[in-house]
Amino acid sequence: MHHSFRQFGAILFALLAIQADLKAQNAVCLTDELMMRGRPEVEALLEQLNAQAWSHQQRQGGGSPVVPVVVHVVWNTASENISDAVIQGFVAQMDEDFNLMNANAGSVRPAFTSVVADVGIRFCLAQYDPQGNATTGITRTYTTDTWFDPNNEPHKMKGPPDGISAWDPTRYLNIWVCDIVGSSGSIVSGYTYLPTGGMAGSWQDGLVIDYYYGTQPSARTPTHEAGHYFGLRHTFDGNSCFADDGFTDTPNTNSPTWNCNNTNLMKCSVLTQYENYMDYSGCTAMFTMQQAAYMNGVLNGVRSSLLGSTGCAGWSALPEDDEHPRAWLHPNPVSDALTVRVASKSPVAYRLIDATGRAVRQGSLIDGALLSVADLAPGLHWLQLEGAGWTQTLKTSVIR
Ligand SMILES: [Zn+2]
Repeated sequence: MHHSFRQFGAILFALLAIQADLKAQNAVCLTDELMMRGRPEVEALLEQLNAQAWSHQQRQGGGSPVVPVVVHVVWNTASENISDAVIQGFVAQMDEDFNLMNANAGSVRPAFTSVVADVGIRFCLAQYDPQGNATTGITRTYTTDTWFDPNNEPHKMKGPPDGISAWDPTRYLNIWVCDIVGSSGSIVSGYTYLPTGGMAGSWQDGLVIDYYYGTQPSARTPTHEAGHYFGLRHTFDGNSCFADDGFTDTPNTNSPTWNCNNTNLMKCSVLTQYENYMDYSGCTAMFTMQQAAYMNGVLNGVRSSLLGSTGCAGWSALPEDDEHPRAWLHPNPVSDALTVRVASKSPVAYRLIDATGRAVRQGSLIDGALLSVADLAPGLHWLQLEGAGWTQTLKTSVIR
């Protein structure tokens, strides 16, 4: 009995390994292909975007801008209907990656540490929908389509009858999660469109992420696609040593890098920066200073309407003056124990979720409860609380 179970386990492991291997070799981003790069009018639009982005670099106002995110799950099978925890995990990972709070930031090789950037653009799952109603920032739509082919139907999930329409794309970053199968035979983890030629704010604007390949933590697909959304090209743009992505702090490279096995990997006679989120390596960990400046330029320029969004009003602020939040935490960040304050006289159910979506604590608590975090891994965690007729998710950072 135990023996056969172990065998089954070994087979399962082998299957997972094959899948991981396929992904490592093949999962691609179709953004370039769908943008029809190389066509003169597209190149002209990119030039225009370039001029605008560099002229809008100055941050407006104080503090980091917050971009409200809505995730539309368009599912046919149960496994495509990914959990709230997975979604919360990848949105939080985007937020960490854009704010140099990613746990693997220290893996960047010394040759590139001087150009690693804190982009300073924050992401939160929307707390208010376009009508101002409280929301989880997640929508779920059943579809009879068993998959979407990005080569022939890249927008089919973005409206009825097969999908769901964007929330106001001038106010929200829309992310559709569905089953993508490329007709060209490649495994596609995701795609989006650069904010050129009227794409920004159009009904097609947003990211499309494969429910499986696009949500693997090491792939960083949402972070990569958000880079495109803010105007970045691949570091291997043009697939030639004589073309580049427009930045001097991303060394020229003529092809994607699929892993980080060779720490001395040279392409185009220079050390390849495979840690860059705009490559495919599976160990990406950084944006550069120039990429960061450019993305802030796009946010303050062609995407500036996002800055006026109230989709996350009050996010990351303490709740005293807001009628919606029912609970808050201190201290935050925390190293040993969290005090949970709840505006309720009754016990509330709680789950503490780590960055992989796993519940590391659960049960019920009352106002003033102390939750020990001393044995938890450092990084972002989410405390989900459920009282009578309300739920709330709070984010906390465990530090050592
Ligand atoms: Zn890409």
